[in-house]
Amino acid sequence: MAFPKKYAALSDQEVVLNIQKARETLGSSLTILGHHYQRDEVIQFADYRGDSLALSRRAAEAKEARYIVFCGVYFMAETAAILCTPEQTVIQPVAEALCPMAQMARAADVAEAWEALTSVWGDDLVPITYQNSIAEVKAFVGRHGGAVCTSSNAPKLFEWALAQKGHLLFMPDEHLGTNSALSLGIPEEEIGIWDPADPPDPKELAHCKVVVWKGFCYVHEGFSVQDVQRVRKRYPQAKLVVHPECPRQVVELADSWGSTAGIIKEVDAAPEKATVAIGTEWHLVHRLQEENPEKLIVPLSRRTCAAMGMTSMRDLLYVLDQILQGDPVNVVKVDSEVAHWARLALERMLQVS
Ligand code: SF4
Repeated sequence: MAFPKKYAALSDQEVVLNIQKARETLGSSLTILGHHYQRDEVIQFADYRGDSLALSRRAAEAKEARYIVFCGVYFMAETAAILCTPEQTVIQPVAEALCPMAQMARAADVAEAWEALTSVWGDDLVPITYQNSIAEVKAFVGRHGGAVCTSSNAPKLFEWALAQKGHLLFMPDEHLGTNSALSLGIPEEEIGIWDPADPPDPKELAHCKVVVWKGFCYVHEGFSVQDVQRVRKRYPQAKLVVHPECPRQVVELADSWGSTAGIIKEVDAAPEKATVAIGTEWHLVHRLQEENPEKLIVPLSRRTCAAMGMTSMRDLLYVLDQILQGDPVNVVKVDSEVAHWARLALERMLQVS
């Protein structure tokens, strides 16, 4: 619980009414952004819903908004702060909502991997980082000629990187990196793993084209081959769509794979009465079923993200009240030098995709 005790004493109805009043008072000076994995009680107040990058871009476009309240996890609000103007203030309702995967790659560890790999390949190496990474890692990548990628454009960014140099280092998700490299036809034996907890001898990776960081999203990594077998048995007619943060074996057994936005498109495109089984965070799967009652949308298994679930509507009301009192809390700030290089890495991605 990140809000003061007085908010716990309010009924749900009072919280809803007070949020509505605060939004009316703040008008166009406020934009609330909500990631697809947020709880229903929070997402109902979002002016825009989306995946992390779409929301960050929306934040940058919402020039009229003096305050951007980002309901998601920290790296998302941080990216919004990097892309926004200095006049805008980005606020995260729960400052402690951190994505565990983004925390798995620290800039110092990335620098160590970089040094080791360049000792083998010289400067024939490009870094690519997933959007789900901390600002310092994005800045490292920007400084070294690389780019950010998302789960929807990772293969495209890999192609871009490998058109320039012979090798690429990808952080922090092993599965997205492996699935993207395999989708480009890169043989398995040319995909190496960098474990920051137990760094390999870089000479052992000399034959690799792609080196992926040993990080993972515990929500998506938890989907298993057994889940696929169970769902296939129960819903033999179902189309199975999974997120590329799932392990390779699960992605290979699925009918298709794609980002959060891609999964939503697959559901939209499915014919009436179709069954779609989805391997991603449960809140999105549940909402897609509510919004598509004429289709059957089932989770591959019911997996939720604790960090995404930390934000409640009381947290949202608290930060709105603080804005109204002229004393915003949980303001997300990024060092200007870090923001400069991270922005460059983000802009390279936007140019490529
Ligand atoms: S779903 Fe996975 S990648 Fe997304 S915030 Fe949660 S832990 Fe991080």
